[in-house]
Amino acid sequence: MKLVSKENVIGEINSEVVACMKCGLCKNRENGVPGDGDICTRIMFIGEAPGRQEDLSGRPFVGAAGKNLDGLLHSVGLSREKVYITNIVKCRPPGNRDPSKEEIATCTGLYLKRQIQTIRPKFLVMLGRHSAIYILSQAGIKVQGITAIHGRVYKIHPFNVPVMAIPMFHPAAMLYNPKYKTFLERDFDVLKSEIKKLTHPDSHGLDTWIHRSYSRK
Ligand code: SF4
Repeated sequence: MKLVSKENVIGEINSEVVACMKCGLCKNRENGVPGDGDICTRIMFIGEAPGRQEDLSGRPFVGAAGKNLDGLLHSVGLSREKVYITNIVKCRPPGNRDPSKEEIATCTGLYLKRQIQTIRPKFLVMLGRHSAIYILSQAGIKVQGITAIHGRVYKIHPFNVPVMAIPMFHPAAMLYNPKYKTFLERDFDVLKSEIKKLTHPDSHGLDTWIHRSYSRK
């Protein structure tokens, strides 16, 4: 896929999300939140849904949980400019309730599926239970929650895109209980070591590997 068409597809998705009225979550939103970051990256993060700050700004992970995510990214040599960040549903559920199965099915079928097929990341990091359950279900893997599976690496093909999928707790969990900071730091170390296995020793390091140029696979 050429760069121009990739930009066009993501641009179309962004425009569609901000005008979308395909499920009831459109009623209370201030802004749809399509996603943000490098569309040529090999690493994509998928959270659950926008919160209050994200709804106001139209950008994902800009509130307190976003600050936690920034810190975790930096701890393994990444930054949000080097990755792509989105959510399974693009509009804020009222009162930050969980998105319903129907809302998830509608929104992912319209947008997340196309985002994954267009960006074609090598790593999918699922932040939180809903994101993990949804992505693993695309590979026929049924899980009840995230406690038993966080930090595992799944080689799966959601939407026919081969990825290494790593479920993690949502960074918001760190706000309520410090033990989740330890879990998340360990799981980001798993991500870092998996990236290291794929980074060619003759390459110019992480920055060269992470931004996919169109001459490389
Ligand atoms: S959550 Fe998704 S499907 Fe529902 S209105 Fe927002 S963008 Fe559309």
